[in-house]
Amino acid sequence: MSRPADNSIELFGLKASPGIVMGRVVVMDNQPGWQRRRLEPEEIADEIMRFKIAVARTEHQLMDIYDQFLEHLADYSAIINSHILILKDGMIYNRTVKIIKDQRINAEWALEQALEDIERRFAELKDLYIRERFADVRQVGHRIFRLLAGKEKEPKFSGKVILAARDFSPEDTLRMNKDMILGFMTEMGGITSHTAIVARTLGIPAVIGLDRLTDMVKTGDMAIIDGGTGRVFLRPGEDKVAFYRSYQTRYQQLDEQISLFAHLPAETIDGLKIEVRANIEIIEEYSQAVKYGAMGIGLLRSEFYYLGREEPPGENFLVEIYSSLVAALSPYPVTIRTLDLGGDKRPGRWPDEENPALGLRAIRFSLRESNLFKIQIRALFRAGFHGNLRILLPMISSLDELLRAKDIISKVKEELVAEGLPFDHDVQLGIMVEVPSAVEVADVLAREVDFFSIGTNDLIQYSMAVDRANENVSYMYEPLHPAVLRMISRVVKCGHDNGIEVGLCGEMAGDITFLPLLIGLGIDELSAHPLVIPHIKKIIRNSTAARVAEMTEKILAMNSANEIRNYLCAYLPLNYSDEFGAGSRRK
Ligand code: PEP
Ligand code: MG
Repeated sequence: MSRPADNSIELFGLKASPGIVMGRVVVMDNQPGWQRRRLEPEEIADEIMRFKIAVARTEHQLMDIYDQFLEHLADYSAIINSHILILKDGMIYNRTVKIIKDQRINAEWALEQALEDIERRFAELKDLYIRERFADVRQVGHRIFRLLAGKEKEPKFSGKVILAARDFSPEDTLRMNKDMILGFMTEMGGITSHTAIVARTLGIPAVIGLDRLTDMVKTGDMAIIDGGTGRVFLRPGEDKVAFYRSYQTRYQQLDEQISLFAHLPAETIDGLKIEVRANIEIIEEYSQAVKYGAMGIGLLRSEFYYLGREEPPGENFLVEIYSSLVAALSPYPVTIRTLDLGGDKRPGRWPDEENPALGLRAIRFSLRESNLFKIQIRALFRAGFHGNLRILLPMISSLDELLRAKDIISKVKEELVAEGLPFDHDVQLGIMVEVPSAVEVADVLAREVDFFSIGTNDLIQYSMAVDRANENVSYMYEPLHPAVLRMISRVVKCGHDNGIEVGLCGEMAGDITFLPLLIGLGIDELSAHPLVIPHIKKIIRNSTAARVAEMTEKILAMNSANEIRNYLCAYLPLNYSDEFGAGSRRK
């Protein structure tokens, strides 16, 4: 936070949703306060009943929102559904009722204790994405608080405003009327929170995670939100307003330009077509992928639907969500990766391991818990009936492991035939190449599958023995290491020799400085975060396949990452002046 002589304040938060807006603020008190009250023994039953009624009414409210948005914004129904499931799951309910009884305290205070307890459990989880799922639990909790406190009405405002609050739930965000709401800012939240995802998808500029925001802003204040950089200016001076006014115009022009080129083809000057697809974590993100020009989904990390719940999802639930995604993207392919639990994505009740990244993870877990794996494979085949679905197996390290997985897959197919259920008999099967042993036997593995997808995030981690989440060794995490580039080159060659497509879905695909090199290496499909897709496609259109192949030949003969980086630093501005030249934003 910085505070100049006048009372303007600059705050830094998380970039939840890009865009620049300025206007008057309305601060929303959507987090009611409450006091601790000790209950007399005869009051306990009534207090539990009061809580029960509030929970039941919360469920009704959520069901109403679900029904209201199902028709127009069907892709958000899963988010609201997840809140209904949190409510039904009993995680909040059972704990709160027990605390009311055991500690003889009022429902609000007991609910707060229950939420704190759940938060502690989530905080122990290693994976940031899953830890952030606690935000959903808290939002459901606050909805119950509002009902306990009798604050049920939706607020009304006149004119276009910026909303500020401690937190908004995805439902709050969904209900934001774009004609009335310029943007919003909150104290709570992470970039993978559902609130952020909904804001991004609806195109409402937002900055979240602003420390002590509600202490510093009041209704009527002027504010500027710069969602692209995560900056917020409260009560800005005239010079700041003038600067942002002109920046806002330039930003809108740039955004319009991007939307103009997002849907242009991804083809090099000399006619090489490259598939550009999106990496997503929950199905609701598909609309953003489509908006930014994705030609399908290159990676759906399916584990999200298994985390943060007491029981794994059932087959019919999975069929429903996979089918809706596949149907929405048809005829483009949707690549769904089977469970990649373990490593840094360990749910509660996971065995303690000395080296989780080298332990029970991904396909190893699926082969051990083969019933769970079968349910997911059944659901995938059945959903394939509605469009073009591809199954991707994570972390395959040997032929034997792949054959064991294929054996289960064949049995599932036989079962489905015997049961007479409609399913796609020709679903393509691919593997993630992300373990060095798989690179070495890629020629053998290529004969067994329909496509490869190189997972550079793990391939770099496992080939250089560098924990991808450990900042002490992050300087060693080097995509340009000659070993990494040679491995990619080998995998592409083995794939192409066997007539299969080779994609790349690690973060490397989304860094435009690596793109000419990846095109030169012969990658057929690049899959990355939706927002970078227009830029990836633009670099492809500005490339000549034959020329980048020559450049790549030179790079493959180099001995160190430094040598390669220096070469690229000279090559990129000369050959891609728009993106890397003197006037580019990268300079
Ligand atoms: C990878 O390892 O590159 C990958 C895309 O998978 P994840 O990041 O989910 O491990
Ligand atoms: Mg991986």
